[in-house]
Amino acid sequence: MAKLYFRYGAMNSGKSTALLQAAYNYEERGHAVLLAKPEIDTKGDLGILSRLGVTREVDFLLASQTDAYATFQQHRRAVVDAAGRDVSCLLVDEAQFLTEAHVDDLLRIAILESIPVLAYGIRTDFQTVAFPGSRRLLEIAHSLEELKTICRCGRKAVFNGRKIGEQYVFDGAQVAIDGEEVAYESLCGACYLQESRGVLNGSKR
Ligand SMILES: [Zn+2]
Repeated sequence: MAKLYFRYGAMNSGKSTALLQAAYNYEERGHAVLLAKPEIDTKGDLGILSRLGVTREVDFLLASQTDAYATFQQHRRAVVDAAGRDVSCLLVDEAQFLTEAHVDDLLRIAILESIPVLAYGIRTDFQTVAFPGSRRLLEIAHSLEELKTICRCGRKAVFNGRKIGEQYVFDGAQVAIDGEEVAYESLCGACYLQESRGVLNGSKR
């Protein structure tokens, strides 16, 4: 039986870089992989952008109503037809934006089709609340692995502070509205609470 893996981290923990490296490792050994991501992420259309400068296009996008299982099977058949070999792994970037139904399908793909699924994403939003896709992955993934990054103070960063200009903000939509100039900084718990004056806005929900 294959497994569903969730590799999560704060912003700038190198998730996309790790995903592209994993894809490369499979392909270097002659294995075929499929790459996917939710459609909500419009940073680069089909592209997976690594901070180290590597870019690669996904094989398919998952819109909120997309049947992830059927879409995977369709692309898998195309690989088998074209390359004469099965897919060895499904890699999913920006997994925090998946729907719960997508994540359930990823588990089914791993278990029923025996294809390992590696999902990479951010655990929580700027108010320290889990994204829907991440929450479902934390609930049902076989394996959880944290990708680490460093806060400005040198401790491990676990939260994502949202900034508009130089100012941290703690209210707003989970996904910033298009055109809104926001930036994110990975923070440890102590620095987050210092900036928010002790507020964890998740309790408002
Ligand atoms: Zn810190």
